[in-house]
Amino acid sequence: NATTTTTTASVFKSKLPDITISNNQPLHTYCFENLSQFSDRPCLIIGSTGKTYTFAETHLICLKIAAGLSNLGIKKGDCVMILLQNCAEFIFSFIAASMIGAVTTTANPFYTSAEVFKQFTASRAKLIITQSLYVEKLREPGENYPKLGDDFIVITVDDPPEKCLHFSVISEANETEIPIVSIDPDDPVALPFSSGTTGLPKGVILTHKSLVTSVAQQVDGENPNLYLKPEDVVLCVLPLFHIYSLNSVLLCSLRAGAAVLLMQKFEIGTLLELIQRHRVSVAAVVPPLVLALAKNPIVEKFDLSSIRVVLSGAAPLGKELEEALRSRVPQAVLGQGYGMTEAGPVLSMCLAFAKQPFPTKSGSCGTVVRNAELKVIDPETGCSLGYNQPGEICIRGSQIMTGYLNDAEATATTIDVEGWLHTGDIGYVDDDDEIFIVDRVKELIKFKGFQACSPYRSNFFVPPAELEALLVSHPSIADAAVVPQKDNVAGEVPVAFVVRSNGNELTEEAVKEFIAKQVVFYKRLHKVYFVHAIPKSPSGKILRKDLRAKLATASPMP
Ligand code: AMP
Repeated sequence: NATTTTTTASVFKSKLPDITISNNQPLHTYCFENLSQFSDRPCLIIGSTGKTYTFAETHLICLKIAAGLSNLGIKKGDCVMILLQNCAEFIFSFIAASMIGAVTTTANPFYTSAEVFKQFTASRAKLIITQSLYVEKLREPGENYPKLGDDFIVITVDDPPEKCLHFSVISEANETEIPIVSIDPDDPVALPFSSGTTGLPKGVILTHKSLVTSVAQQVDGENPNLYLKPEDVVLCVLPLFHIYSLNSVLLCSLRAGAAVLLMQKFEIGTLLELIQRHRVSVAAVVPPLVLALAKNPIVEKFDLSSIRVVLSGAAPLGKELEEALRSRVPQAVLGQGYGMTEAGPVLSMCLAFAKQPFPTKSGSCGTVVRNAELKVIDPETGCSLGYNQPGEICIRGSQIMTGYLNDAEATATTIDVEGWLHTGDIGYVDDDDEIFIVDRVKELIKFKGFQACSPYRSNFFVPPAELEALLVSHPSIADAAVVPQKDNVAGEVPVAFVVRSNGNELTEEAVKEFIAKQVVFYKRLHKVYFVHAIPKSPSGKILRKDLRAKLATASPMP
């Protein structure tokens, strides 16, 4: 409930009571704290082969790799880069680096060499764990760049190309050789780079304390917000290089004793087959995956009755799409989490996932996590707002990042002097403490119009996410994205990119009319472009800058 602080801010808290979080221990110690309770239970299941590692095996392999990394000269504070698709080695290496006090930066393997090199040089990684396919991306792109094999070590999980080492060099080390290091809770453990859909990617410093706090906020306590049981099989199809999957799927499952089913990449048929075969009970997804599960007819051929929880996050999920998925998995609890890399990442989580659940509304992103404070501020004045008033969402707590790597200026504009992290997201908290995200401040389309009852021009804001949710609820629309187009009169107007689901019958006029019937005048679509696919990031976000670039060219058709 909203309370008053010294700064007279309305502060929103979880409906769950705060808990004692033992965030003074290193991340790996915390994750494996309850190991003895489930040491023989499955910890990792490899989707492609069915191979299973128990918790005890996983822990032992991590210890060996920690010793192996140390033998190669990796010390406390050094950075290790993981450039891999989802695989067991990813997980072992991340935990092993934590065990020797090293920091892991996780990179998207589909990055171009220039992007990989930017992250690699910014993070000053001393060692890279990757697969042979990506090694070419690491060969020096210019004279003054560090040289593979000389200036940094490259380890591949498959046959090593020239100047690279095989993973067995670290995985077959003797675990007794692991050095004793003293790890402070404020030492960094992960250095993800923020998504880069807006602005340039920056290294986000997450400490042991941030990640332990974040995991505890989700799965600890007598009534955990995200109740995971040791019998659960948790789907890990989202890329582990993104903090959503790393934290809410992997680390939460390790802590709770649940098994993680690893899928290297998304393919709908394989995904459904694995869900059926391994009786997946918890599915962490992103809206494009919800779209596939809700709309693809192939889904009906599979038995999804094992799923008890579907957690969607990382991008807006409209009420309409949530409802459409509900008909496919009627037995499951559906809900959202809202995260941002810089926030550790989870800000809020659906309380229907709790052990003693609360009723929740469709379209809500849940309630702020426990042991944290959330406020909504007027983006212009900075004043904090009460219930049902949209503004910029800010969060405070031990889970948030300590700052951006080597970027004091960006840190200072994101975390204010009172410790509030400003998300850049516009949202509101309703009377039941549920959070609704409207859109990102930067994505809002600014339509300048005349107020019906006044002669003055005023700004109307159109949230693309709202129109996208309506568009995908149309039976003949498979996917959609809305972006602003420059307009001489109104400044900006909303236009849509639409993927038809069956044939070419759906016309531009029909789409415009479908929307016009449901929204206020300034939200009406001015143009509809039919395309074959909507560009999306691996974490499920619409790449609006690509669409804006398309608009800037003469013909936006693909
Ligand atoms: P990232 O740093 O890649 O995790 O992206 C964070 C951003 O994703 C947030 O600031 C939001 O704009 C968006 N986001 C994450 N979860 C949600 C959600 N459930 N609903 C709407 N937007 C979301």
